[in-house]
Parts: sequence; C-alpha cells; structure tokens
Amino acid sequence: MTAPTGLTGSTTNPVARGEAAAERTTRGERRAVPRRSTPHRVTAIPVLPDGSPDWERRASGAARDLSPGGIGLELDSPADMPAGSPVLLVLQDSPPGGPLCAGVEVRHTRRLGPGRLRVGSSFGGLAGEVVRPENLVPRFRPESMALVPGWPEPVLRKWADLGVLRADVVDRIQLCPACHGLPTFRRGCSGCGSARVTADRFIHHFTCAHVGPVGDFEAGEELVCPKCRTRRLVVGADYEYLTGVHHCADCHWGDAQLGPVAQCLRCGLRFPGDQAVEWELTGYHAHHLDPLALLAGAG
Ligand SMILES: [Zn+2]
Ligand SMILES: [Zn+2]
Ligand SMILES: [Zn+2]
Repeated sequence: MTAPTGLTGSTTNPVARGEAAAERTTRGERRAVPRRSTPHRVTAIPVLPDGSPDWERRASGAARDLSPGGIGLELDSPADMPAGSPVLLVLQDSPPGGPLCAGVEVRHTRRLGPGRLRVGSSFGGLAGEVVRPENLVPRFRPESMALVPGWPEPVLRKWADLGVLRADVVDRIQLCPACHGLPTFRRGCSGCGSARVTADRFIHHFTCAHVGPVGDFEAGEELVCPKCRTRRLVVGADYEYLTGVHHCADCHWGDAQLGPVAQCLRCGLRFPGDQAVEWELTGYHAHHLDPLALLAGAG
C-alpha cells in the first residue's frame, strides 16, 4: 500500500496526482454535457465492512446533482461500485481546517465509458457511521467497563493517517494496572486497602488550649471544657474539632492519614490508588460536509 500522505498534501501525494489527471477528462466532458454541476472535486474512498478505508480502490471525480439527501458523482473509476457500497467522500478543495467529508451509500451506477463511472448515492449508511461524532470519541461502555470509541482504535487511526480524521487527546484517566478497566476510588487504610476505618475526634478549646476526646467535653445538652470548666462552648468561636489517628477495623493499622485506594470495576482488583495506570484518551474529529452550504456555494 502506498504510504498515505494525506488528502491535502503536495503533488507527490497520490490523491493530488489523481486529481490532476481527472481534471483533464472532466474539462471535455463538461463542455459536451452541460449539467447543473457543483464545482467540487472529491475523492471517493470505499469503506470495508470493518469500517476501514479501502484505499487501494479509491477514485477521484466530481460531485454532481447535490441535494440535501444525496449526491451524484462522476468518478474516474475503472472498477464498479455495487449498489449498497459504503463510500466516504472527501472534498479535495476543502477550506482550511481539515478536509470536509460525508459518508454515502451507492444507490445506482452507470458506466459512461471506460474508466468513467456515474454514481448516484444517498448520505448515511456504514460510511456515515464512520464519521459520526458519537463514534469518534471514547465513551463509557458498561459491557467492557472501559472508555472506548464506537470504532476500534486501529480503524480510526487508518482514517487519521489519511488525513480524513484528526486525532486529539481529549482526557487523561487512571486505569486498573492489571486489566486497564475503570476503577472506583476511595480513601482508606494504607495497610490493607479497607475502607472500614474510623478516626478519633478531639475538641480543641481555644481559650485554655486544652485538647481532649469529644466525650470528655460532653455534659448533658452542652459542652463543658474539662480543664478550665468553661460552659456552653460554641463551635468556631470557642473550639474546633480535630481528627486523630485513623484505625482500621480489618488490620488494626493506625495512621494520621488515609491513602487513596482503588478497586477495578472490571476485574475486581483492589490496589493502592497511586499504582493506577495513567492513560491518555484519544478522540477523533471529522469535518462534516454540509450539503446545503455546498449548494449555496455552487449557486
Ligand atoms: Zn487495614
Ligand atoms: Zn478550657
Ligand atoms: Zn482490572
């Protein structure tokens, strides 16, 4: 396979060379058969059942008979495109910011001569799914307990290598070190990972600086300092609560600080939170061809 160099590259790019050859043929055609044509040249890339580009069978041509529901094409294609074939159309004269593309399904074809194919197509189908925004960004899939895009990453990568899709880092997440599933996080015992931890609570009386367990201050309905005997203590004004050592109910560990503890939703592994694997989430972006805008441009 020719190394894909993108669809908007230099003249060494195979797509650009195909475009030049096609222009010579269409110029004569346009004079002989006047029609309501759009000035737009496209590359038609057949889509394989797994969503990948069938780059070897791509064809160059011109867009005709544009409507909101579909598009007519004249392609420099030696091979036929059976009805029902999914094809991704990429506009060759796209504005800056990435090539405009649209997924279509072939409705009917007619041979205009050797190497020239008239194609009627409607927007949508499998090729439309390839560039649908919901399929391009990673989403949470309950069946795999993971964040993945609608298409396998290698498939989207192939379109990105052709320049049709643009890859972007959309997030950075923490995953299970064993299976790369999504974990939950809590603060818990640094010794055994248990969340069954309790901590002693203390009261700090500001005036006399006494610190003691809450129980020592409790006197019926009010709080009384056991050292200086001041009554009716008001939180914030007279005293503050302090947290003492945490005690684990499962391993009897004790520490002033709790640690981050993670548990994988997929494989169940419980592990120290700082052992989570950090992972960059890649999303893809397509520039969608708006037929109405193109029609307005062609008028
Ligand atoms: Zn513990
Ligand atoms: Zn006191
Ligand atoms: Zn796991």
